Amino acid sequence: MEMLTDKEMVTRICELRKELNAVILTHNYQLGEVQDIADFVGDSLELSIKASKTTADVIVFCGVKFMAETAYMLSPEKTVLLPSLASGCPMADMAEAEDLKKMKKEHPDALVVTYVNSSAEVKALSDICVTSANAVKVVASLPEDRKLIFVPDKNLGAYVARETGREMILWPGYCPTHMRITVAQLEQRKREYPDAVVIVHPEARLDVIDLADEALSTGGMIKFAKSTTAKQIITGTELGMIYRLSKENPEKQFIALSEQAICPMMKMHRLDNVLAAMEHKQHSIVVPEEIRRDAVKPIEKMLQFS
Ligand code: SF4
Repeated sequence: MEMLTDKEMVTRICELRKELNAVILTHNYQLGEVQDIADFVGDSLELSIKASKTTADVIVFCGVKFMAETAYMLSPEKTVLLPSLASGCPMADMAEAEDLKKMKKEHPDALVVTYVNSSAEVKALSDICVTSANAVKVVASLPEDRKLIFVPDKNLGAYVARETGREMILWPGYCPTHMRITVAQLEQRKREYPDAVVIVHPEARLDVIDLADEALSTGGMIKFAKSTTAKQIITGTELGMIYRLSKENPEKQFIALSEQAICPMMKMHRLDNVLAAMEHKQHSIVVPEEIRRDAVKPIEKMLQFS
């Protein structure tokens, strides 16, 4: 294949976007080169809403696989393309449908609240989905006399349980990227930047969240960064976030709370495989109809809160 420069690839992607009537949806953690060609960059809730409302025929999804599955389940008549099939989510892989079935049998009266970072099969066994942007609101709305199982992120679950005062049975999953953020790193950053505010993602551990000024989804971080009067913001989430925050707020300084908070799965999409995905209509993400039918219900219930 002939080697194209980045500029040529961008030009070709823009041509194909028109030819295919495609929209490129990109998560906040993606590489800058992929954020720059997107029609929309956002968190998983914002991307789900966009996917459900777009009039495009093709959605090129630059995020991890469960996000592309969600987009497909909301718009099964559209073609959803994932440029790199390797981009799975290790946390989503920590919850298997068979194990959730067993847990449900042990707690037959419990409602299952599932973070969107999960497989379609797990969603199909759930009562309602949440994202980090709406988890507190959704859980607070659930009947108080019902037991709750929260799948798969124990950190987000612990945070939501504390914020809502609801006891929840927590699945033992976690995000390996956010687990790398530690109290020691946070304390070190605070010593280095004593005037900075600290924002962290609720996938971080509770002891880290406790020391932060705000716990925010990535969409929440974007809004906070625009409105805060602070000039220095210590940012505790995946490093890709710093790119967008800095681009949109050039007068402010964003300091990574942890240089180790990199999700390799979010870095799989690049200009060349986005172009290949559009040229060859690969890799089309499809969820079998018998799973989609059940899995889309808890997603749609969640979207009513947006
Ligand atoms: S950052 Fe964490 S939750 Fe997000 S895709 Fe990577 S492993 Fe999954």
